[in-house]
Amino acid sequence: MTIVTRFAPSPTGLLHVGNIRTALHAWLLACKHGGRFLLRIDDTDAERSREEYVDAIRADLEWLGLAPDGEERQSERLAIYEDAFEKLREAGRVYRCYETAQELDLKRKVLLGRGLPPIYDRAGLALTDADHARFAGEGTAPHWRFRLNHDAPIEWLDGVRGPQHFDPAQLSDPVIRRADGSWLYMLPSAIDDAEMGVTDVLRGEDHVSNTAVQIQMFTALFAAGFGAANSLPRFAHEALLVGREGKLSKRLGSLSASALRDSGIEPEALVALLARLGTSLPVEPIADRGRLIESFDLATFGRAPARFDETELERLNHAIVHQLPYASVAPRLPDGMDDRAWLAIRPNLEKVADAADWWRIVTGPIAAPVLEPEDRAFVAEAAAHLTWSDDPWTGLTGVLKEATGRKGKALFLPLRRALTGLDHGPDMHALLPLIGENEARARLERAARGD
Ligand code: GLU
Repeated sequence: MTIVTRFAPSPTGLLHVGNIRTALHAWLLACKHGGRFLLRIDDTDAERSREEYVDAIRADLEWLGLAPDGEERQSERLAIYEDAFEKLREAGRVYRCYETAQELDLKRKVLLGRGLPPIYDRAGLALTDADHARFAGEGTAPHWRFRLNHDAPIEWLDGVRGPQHFDPAQLSDPVIRRADGSWLYMLPSAIDDAEMGVTDVLRGEDHVSNTAVQIQMFTALFAAGFGAANSLPRFAHEALLVGREGKLSKRLGSLSASALRDSGIEPEALVALLARLGTSLPVEPIADRGRLIESFDLATFGRAPARFDETELERLNHAIVHQLPYASVAPRLPDGMDDRAWLAIRPNLEKVADAADWWRIVTGPIAAPVLEPEDRAFVAEAAAHLTWSDDPWTGLTGVLKEATGRKGKALFLPLRRALTGLDHGPDMHALLPLIGENEARARLERAARGD
């Protein structure tokens, strides 16, 4: 059976590290088994959903290299939900209720006050035709709940959490549809997973109790003749992502995919970190997706919250930048910076964007170098001795060592200063050929003159 996974974001905000992690894992799972990875835009909440976030989600997934094999939008599937809903209604699995939010709140408080779990009392189920007629007469439209089957214990083998067991009598019948006819998350999601043949639902552990309810929804849908697969997906709930100091929610703005991208984080660094965070596998700067796919295994996922640490991301990012091939960064490099220049400058970079600063050192003009008086004469000698070859630095320093007796720092530092205006930077063996013979000589002469 082909594996089908899905990532189902609500377009009510930007994707952040938590969502990206879920998307990545669903993608890795599909890739590992040669399956399909779907993007499902959960946009039934018309008030909070925004088109700009839909666009941002697509752009972020593309940036991350998590291309979906298909995309669906819940707002375009309302007829399917209507059809499924009618079937559940005929089967007596949905019922009308009229309580206001305040009334429900009061009911909950009364139960809690008595030390009882705040489970909905199913008052709506007891309503008669006359009651419904009375509400209709008053112009009060019902909202709808899904009726859980209290006689069918809910069990599944969770891909991360192991065997799960829920007593449906301990759960409230969930509201699935508002009085205005709009849908809440729960039922459309189950309908979609059934209708799209999703085989593996991978999501955060905040959805565990939703899964319990949705398992009964699947069963009810299949029994009512809806859905092609007629078999439940596998479920896996990963432990939540937390920051070093606890919850991430406060800092999520700065941890959006676009904010991270703008701060110079490479998608490969984010992917390498999030693929392994919270698993028993080591977090390593792996830029090769194939390796991440191959080693992906839900059995390695721990149950404790995974700790996200930005300094770890930065560290991985540096290591990843040092591995990036020219082809993958070329569009982001300054004009004229070629493969050779990239390889020369790359070891000095923390972020790809910093390449422009080093490239300016190559192309000039550079800051006027500050040299000690005795170094000026030395640099003048360097200008006189400069000859060109594949490796002019070795040639130049070799000749100067012989001619002046200088070595180590006394030999190298004045030259670096004269040639780059700086005390540090990329390896001069690689940098000098980029600067070129004429420019190098001109820089040495200028530094010797001290202007
Ligand atoms: N739209 C839901 C969310 O973002 C989807 C959850 C799911 O079923 O994966 O939480």
